Amino acid sequence: MKTHVKALVVGGGAVGTSIAYHLARAGWDDVMLLERDELTSGSTWHAAGLLPLFNMSFATTHIHKYSVDFYKSLEAETGLNAGFAVVGNLRMAQTQARMDEYMVYATTAETCGVPFEWLTPTQIRERWPLVRTEDLEGAIFHPTDGYINPADVTMAMAKGARQRGVMIERRWQADGYVWRGDHWDVTCTKMVERGGNLVPSEEQIVISAEHVVTATGNHAQRTAKLLGIKIPAVPVEHQFIVTEPDAALVEWRKTNVEHPVLRDADARWYVREERGGWILGPYEDGAPARFAHGVPDSFRADLFPLDLERIEGEYMSFIHRIPSSETVGLKDDFNGPICYTPDGNPLVGPAPGLRNMWLAEGFSFGITAAGGTGYYLAQQMVEGEAEIDMASLDPKRYGSWMTTEYAARKNEECYSHVFILHHPDEEREACRPLRTAPAYDRQKARGAQFGHVNGWDRPNYYAPLGFDDHASRSFRRGGWWQYAVEEAKAIREGVGLIDATAFTKHVVKGPGATAFLDWFTTNKLPKVGRINLTYALTATGTTRTEYTIVRMKDDEYYLVSAGAWTDYDADYLRKAVADKEAEFGRIEVQNVTTQWGVFAIAGPKSRDVLKAVINDADPATALSNKRFPWLSARPIELGMCPVNAIRVAYTGELGWELHHPIEMQNYLFDLLEKAGAVHGMKLVGARAQNWLRQEKSYRAFGTELGRDATPLEADLPRFVDMTKEFHGKAAMQAVGVRSKCVTLLIDGPADADPWGREVLFAQDGTRVGRLTSGGYSVAFGKSIGMGYVRPDLAVVGAKLKVRMFRELWDAVIVEDSPYDPANATIRMDG
Ligand SMILES: Cc1cc2nc3c(=O)[nH]c(=O)nc-3n(C[C@H](O)[C@H](O)[C@H](O)COP(=O)(O)OP(=O)(O)OC[C@H]3O[C@@H](n4cnc5c(N)ncnc54)[C@H](O)[C@@H]3O)c2cc1C
Repeated sequence: MKTHVKALVVGGGAVGTSIAYHLARAGWDDVMLLERDELTSGSTWHAAGLLPLFNMSFATTHIHKYSVDFYKSLEAETGLNAGFAVVGNLRMAQTQARMDEYMVYATTAETCGVPFEWLTPTQIRERWPLVRTEDLEGAIFHPTDGYINPADVTMAMAKGARQRGVMIERRWQADGYVWRGDHWDVTCTKMVERGGNLVPSEEQIVISAEHVVTATGNHAQRTAKLLGIKIPAVPVEHQFIVTEPDAALVEWRKTNVEHPVLRDADARWYVREERGGWILGPYEDGAPARFAHGVPDSFRADLFPLDLERIEGEYMSFIHRIPSSETVGLKDDFNGPICYTPDGNPLVGPAPGLRNMWLAEGFSFGITAAGGTGYYLAQQMVEGEAEIDMASLDPKRYGSWMTTEYAARKNEECYSHVFILHHPDEEREACRPLRTAPAYDRQKARGAQFGHVNGWDRPNYYAPLGFDDHASRSFRRGGWWQYAVEEAKAIREGVGLIDATAFTKHVVKGPGATAFLDWFTTNKLPKVGRINLTYALTATGTTRTEYTIVRMKDDEYYLVSAGAWTDYDADYLRKAVADKEAEFGRIEVQNVTTQWGVFAIAGPKSRDVLKAVINDADPATALSNKRFPWLSARPIELGMCPVNAIRVAYTGELGWELHHPIEMQNYLFDLLEKAGAVHGMKLVGARAQNWLRQEKSYRAFGTELGRDATPLEADLPRFVDMTKEFHGKAAMQAVGVRSKCVTLLIDGPADADPWGREVLFAQDGTRVGRLTSGGYSVAFGKSIGMGYVRPDLAVVGAKLKVRMFRELWDAVIVEDSPYDPANATIRMDG
């Protein structure tokens, strides 16, 4: 057995096998796959094999689509038939809200080139008369997906991998990982059978690998402990039952093709044919998390006992939908562990804090995702980045605050939410509140409805006490919309206060700090007391992080980045510092996120509010343009609170960010609230802020800004200093401008705004781009959006169409910063 390899993939389920295959296909010729038992002996063996293309996320839709296309090609390559039944996938809707969900989804599918059809209840009945349809609104049908045999597709990938030189070693368990500076030493133990259990033997070897990928399925918690990191992948029980043959189905099949995979989302199940009978897979309430502290040796390719009572409601609704199944008996059942993560997306990408260690854990649709994950992760490993932005799957989207208990409870919630209505304005309840700023109770008492971001509870909007956020959610304008409109107007016309405490904050200082940041980021560094907006790039020239940089001293900087991405940003920054310290000199990095609270006060009257509480020899001029110009920062005192104030406003209005010691937050809140009352100050949430920043064309990280576009594609050349050398510059230039970020005003439906996932067309019906953000503009009284279009179309005045709710609506590209393009209100003196 070889003991030196370029890449070692740990885990021989569908996911690990696909990664090994794709690494070899991407050109790495020294890849080994290690499996502690037999290939597919984890969750893969008992999966139902469905390959649903339906997904609300752009990245995941790409991943699933790749898998479906790839699996179809495997037989030609390997000679193995993986039993891919391309029967299609019919998602039925019992309500108009569910149809709305499918319409919102369909526009994402369209951006990714996933085909679909709309069916009325009558059309469903005509094609599949065993299905009861009188209580349906309609359905969306994907003709190109279906189901596959999970073990067979894994074996086909394994054969393809072997053909490309991958070594597959079974009955070896990875038991220890030590980083040696340029490679990992992985201690591997030979596994043996003892008393029916699979146990470690005395035989051990050490394999040196330049790169390691873990794809250990239900064993993720053990992997986390071995690596000394946190991996919020904890399995939950998932069951499906197989019925005896259904006589009506058998009869129907004599002259007809197989039924598509049927999904009655409102009844929370999927059903497909299985040898004349049916497989019913429910996503019920109450499925418990398992193995939160590891998988026992005694659990191999085992199952849990069936809990029929738990799925009784779903079973009855299945009989309702397919009445011929009423008298059919049960033949078989499967209740196995299915790995989840708190948001349902797997954890794919570089491991936090470690070098050349890649995670591929937490797959709940692992058969569907395996192909695409292998493809895109191999791109990341071999080429530096994938062609799609993998941030929504990145393992570091959960921070060090995450615990096993959090993962287990959130994963149970995620499982039971598989078939809920996935409103874009959905907020999930489990494990909240968890991370709260001190002012949380005050905000709640004033009607705040919170969103959950990176564990924080952050106000989304403020409504009258007792307002039911859950009931207000919609795929169109939710019940909260009117409150966000009032908040947005308050900032444009008066003054508003936003809690931005969740912002990620780092201090970078020391003799090497200036040279390092000059190399690390694209823009000129600010002078002392000034701020700049700037970008850290990936090695392939795309945007890795957006920073507001404040220069506190000659060699001390305060970096502010997005609140949702603290560990993601911290990891990249720390690794870059470690790489460059020898070259640039000592650099100290401190993550001060939880030490500093942030209030953003904005609006034409914001200066008046601050003047009333600022402690200064001359309060009347302390905040004037002369003493406190736009894009500068300085320490001030508000009452008894020391504040590092920065004159910027993400809402594009006159305003300041007030960074304050977290322990003084309630004092400051009370002070500002009292002073603000005189000027009618409103508390404002993240939703209004998101609309306002689009009126100013401020790109947001995670939507317009990410690893699939360069700052030049984001059309931000003013923040890129081409006269200096910076990390990723050459790659950014080499990429060119494949598509360009624009702002659009949209004459959309009267009751809906875009969510930022809609497809864009030219007048002639050609697909030319997609929205990445959307919302309502109070300044223009209509919908607004930002997105990417073909560069030749990115011209002011270009007329496009946007698909919303199955119809095309007029959209026009407007100049950047359509509201106050000259920045007159931000610069307003006083
Ligand atoms: C009842 C049920 C039905 C399902 N139906 C579907 C479906 O229809 N469609 C779908 O897409 N998904 C489905 N799933 C989910 C799917 O089974 C999983 O997402 C998928 O199998 C995960 O694959 P994996 O490779 O990540 O993990 P696994 O298949 O669990 O593989 C992990 C492997 O790693 C090995 N391993 C662990 N630790 C080590 C170590 N230290 N050293 C060496 N080897 C190690 C394990 O032995 C195991 O073989 C279903 C799940 C269940 C429970």
